[in-house]
Amino acid sequence: MGAVAARTFADITAGALLANCGQCWARPGVPCKDGGTHLLRYQRAYRRGVLSAEDLTTVLAAVIVSEVPVIVTGGTGETAAAA
Ligand SMILES: [Zn+2]
Repeated sequence: MGAVAARTFADITAGALLANCGQCWARPGVPCKDGGTHLLRYQRAYRRGVLSAEDLTTVLAAVIVSEVPVIVTGGTGETAAAA
C-alpha cells in the first residue's frame, strides 16, 4: 500500500453506510434513523474491511471530543453512561 491521504469524515460515513446498521437495522445504503449514523454501523463496516482502524479511530475521537451529531447512540443515552 502506498501513502493514503486521511479520509474525510464524510468519506468514512459513506463507507459505514455500505454496511447494515446493528442499532436500527437500516439496510446498506439506507440512512440510520435519529438523524445521524449509529456507532455500531461504523464498527460493522470496520469488521467487514470497509473501514480501516484509522477510520474507526477518527470516528471514536469525534464521539469523545466533539460529540458530533453524526453519531447517535440509540437516542436513550443509556450507551453514553460509563458507570
Ligand atoms: Zn442505525
